[in-house]
Amino acid sequence: MKDIDATVGQKNECGLCRESVPKLVKSHVIPKSIMMLGRPKDTSEPMVLIPSNAKKRVLRSQAGIYSSIVCSACEASFQAGDDALLALCRTWEQGQPYGPANEPVLCKVYPEISSSTLHRGLLTTLFRAHLSPHPMFENVDLGAEHEASVRKLLLSDQPTEASSYRAVMRTAPGLAAGTIMSPMRERWDGVNVYRFYFPHISTFIKVDKKPFDGAWQAGALGALSCAHAMVEERLHDREIARIKRAMIGREPEVERFGGRDAGASTN
Ligand SMILES: [Zn+2]
Repeated sequence: MKDIDATVGQKNECGLCRESVPKLVKSHVIPKSIMMLGRPKDTSEPMVLIPSNAKKRVLRSQAGIYSSIVCSACEASFQAGDDALLALCRTWEQGQPYGPANEPVLCKVYPEISSSTLHRGLLTTLFRAHLSPHPMFENVDLGAEHEASVRKLLLSDQPTEASSYRAVMRTAPGLAAGTIMSPMRERWDGVNVYRFYFPHISTFIKVDKKPFDGAWQAGALGALSCAHAMVEERLHDREIARIKRAMIGREPEVERFGGRDAGASTN
């Protein structure tokens, strides 16, 4: 259970700076502009959000998901990071290939996007998801220790990308990869991470004292001064299967996404 949800809102205490304020403002946990990018082209249909828990209902949202979790000053501090994340989601295909010549592209770089601003945006997204009582974010619970330490980082001017909360970003083409699923907690090589889906960009944020190893360490944001993302040529079959599984029995979303997924998987 998320203990913090019981207190945030009731006392009008900001979930980030802990100041008591007359009114909390509504925050997008995942900014509306990013959610709108995931919609099928040439349609005005609301975005579909897929909970990773198949028992939860699929959500349609034109406006995004809001939660009243922070004060207006903290909400304003999120803007630069949200903008960097939006810039990456908009231009994910335009990154410059980076790495040895004549080898498959492992990673793309985005010279216009600062890795430290982007990382701060990812960490605030993680923190907002932690604070949010919305069912879409029910799997995100930092626990008291990490909550305190992420809060301290976000309230300081220190670069967050050098902290223990390293983040690896990944791009993938295809309509399945444009789907937004709710964030989930996973273990990779014995290290706890949260996976967040944005359209064509996923991110793995380490919430663990143990360091990333090998490729994870090398691929984490901060290795370059600008943003970079690891390149997947297509989603793994298991991942596509998981997305489809989350959709089973969910008319009419299944039809629309199922058909498109099948096409995407042959890309
Ligand atoms: Zn605040």
